[in-house]
Amino acid sequence: MAYVITTGCAGVKDAACTQVCPIECIHDAGDQLVIHPDECIDCGACAAACPVGAIFQDSDVPAGHAASTARNREFFL
Ligand code: SF4
Ligand code: SF4
Repeated sequence: MAYVITTGCAGVKDAACTQVCPIECIHDAGDQLVIHPDECIDCGACAAACPVGAIFQDSDVPAGHAASTARNREFFL
């Protein structure tokens, strides 16, 4: 399990999530931030801190944002 940042982050990128992540597994991918899927410890702190609700547990990513799960993973390949 891991959390995923969706496209709602683009244009905001206030880094509130990076300030609360205990293991610093959130990185800047350019247009938005992304979460390392293998390092995330599934604590949920980032999702609670995001002002636009752009972060979801991978099992709860809305259907319209399904591509974001791959986007987060592919950044770290
Ligand atoms: S769920 Fe926790 S460990 Fe995973 S990215 Fe968010 S703050 Fe970091
Ligand atoms: S808190 Fe939300 S909007 Fe801010 S950088 Fe993180 S994912 Fe993007």
